[in-house]
Amino acid sequence: MDGKAMLNCQKAKELLSAYMDAELSEAQRELVQAHLAECPVCRQELARLERLWQTLAALPGVAPPADLAERVLAQLPRRQVPWWRSLALAASLLVGIMMGGSLGVNLHQGLYQTTPEPQLVVLEAFDEFPPASLGTLVATYQMDEENGA
Ligand SMILES: [Zn+2]
Repeated sequence: MDGKAMLNCQKAKELLSAYMDAELSEAQRELVQAHLAECPVCRQELARLERLWQTLAALPGVAPPADLAERVLAQLPRRQVPWWRSLALAASLLVGIMMGGSLGVNLHQGLYQTTPEPQLVVLEAFDEFPPASLGTLVATYQMDEENGA
């Protein structure tokens, strides 16, 4: 009630990916759940992420170069950014990429019915990489997660 450590929306959204992957500590998890209980915006964001994850999981598996992830992540202007934040960024990028394809039209409408987010702004940081590579990057990350690596 006294809001000892309430999350704001920005912080909650940063934690959502990890929340979905059960990567949070118990305390963090409770904070996220408490925020979700009170915040329809973040609940919607969580639902959107879940749809995105399902979409990614349905993508055909491909084998990227072993060092691709490192090379891509090396381009990120990150400072001690947890891997799952990078994954969330990559997922956003993938959506942005898909928006340009025929598949992307339907996906875009499904995922962003209410909020056309500026995904493509972030995409510019990656424009030296072909779209397919980013897709495989995300797929690779997800496989790592499933392998319990
Ligand atoms: Zn919120």
